[in-house]
Amino acid sequence: MGNPTGAILLSVALAALFCVGAEGKVKDGFRGYKVYRVTPSNEKHAQFLMDLQKSLEAQLMTDEIDIWTDTESLSTKADQPVVIMVSPEHQPEMLQTFDAEGLKYEETVADLARLIEEESRADAPTTKNGGMSWTQYHNYSTIESFVQWLTVNYPTIVSTSVIGQSYEGRNLHLSKVGKPRADGKTKPAVWFDSQIHAREWIASATLTYMMNELITGYSSNSTYQRLLDQVDIYVLWVINADGFEWTKTSSNERLWRTTRRVNPFAACLGADPNRNYDHKWMVSGAVQSPCTQTYAGAFPFSEIENLHHTEAYLARRKEIKCLLTFHSFSQVWLTPWGYDNSLPADYPELYDLGVRATNALRVPYGTVYRVGSSTALLGSAAGATDDWGKAKGMTKYSYTVELRPSSGGSNGFILPPNQIIPSGIETLRAVIVVLQQIIDEFGPILNTE
Ligand SMILES: [Zn+2]
Repeated sequence: MGNPTGAILLSVALAALFCVGAEGKVKDGFRGYKVYRVTPSNEKHAQFLMDLQKSLEAQLMTDEIDIWTDTESLSTKADQPVVIMVSPEHQPEMLQTFDAEGLKYEETVADLARLIEEESRADAPTTKNGGMSWTQYHNYSTIESFVQWLTVNYPTIVSTSVIGQSYEGRNLHLSKVGKPRADGKTKPAVWFDSQIHAREWIASATLTYMMNELITGYSSNSTYQRLLDQVDIYVLWVINADGFEWTKTSSNERLWRTTRRVNPFAACLGADPNRNYDHKWMVSGAVQSPCTQTYAGAFPFSEIENLHHTEAYLARRKEIKCLLTFHSFSQVWLTPWGYDNSLPADYPELYDLGVRATNALRVPYGTVYRVGSSTALLGSAAGATDDWGKAKGMTKYSYTVELRPSSGGSNGFILPPNQIIPSGIETLRAVIVVLQQIIDEFGPILNTE
């Protein structure tokens, strides 16, 4: 906040907001909650939103008012719209505050509960693809059945292992997808994972769609065949299995983000696994308060899912030349570094591939992605997967992909199921560009001695 008047206005506005009883628990599946798109038009507005976000986190208010960004660490750039969820009790004060600050806003979701109900609609059960489909969002056990189905039905190109169990005991499945070379030599590989953040359902939906296309299309599609003959894809389907399953238990829990581990000495469960990796842990964009969305954990790799992920990754590190970790939302293709505003020495190459991938992504539906470092586009946040992949995994092309909708996209994390297939189709276009780059740059065989 650049001037004293503004600072006073902000503190008064926040005080008013927080005086209304903040019990912090969602009831009745977000009934009456609204979502607003707010567009800061100058630096003061952007600063106001950042201050608001910090205050909401500090006051444990994010069940009531939540600025929906994936990072919880807004960029200071003006003109980049954000979406804000507001409970019925806080709507009058929030709108007064927007007006007082001169912030432009529009209501984009009139009743969040209805949106969640529509999103949760289930189709008639199918026996195809292990019960999996892409016209609805499925739970973890269906994704497990789907992975099992792929493994059994496409044994020449898919193998799957369990790399460990989640905190609550769910199996974490890692598949290797690709045709082994006849001479047994090692191909270059990529690593895809998703759903480290529980509420970002489009992430695993898109990843499963793409892998289903590549695997079931292998025998009939010459492009898929050529790619899978020359590159291996490691797929850690769902990292945060417990958190993901928790979002399925009740509509009140739909926006759960973190893991489900019991924190000693704290009433709140879980930590943000995408702040829990051991490269530059807690340097920025993370906090040490267990009841916040970006709690980094008591120490690096406090979350067992992160530990299993990185152990499996490091065992294959010499093969892996690219990491794509799928999130939502904002439509951004992010490179390291996320811990501060420095850039890797080979950033121009990472940027170039990101641009080519997102140009291909744009073709089917005109969906526009921005490309840049995490810090430049979303604000700094240390301890995330992509930084770890680059620094500790020693993977050249390490990216976080934030899927639909755009940063001002009205539905935020609640993307209607009829967008799963379009998201899958367009993202697969980008993935094909990435796979081809890895083959061209690192193929045909690796010396992993
Ligand atoms: Zn995320």
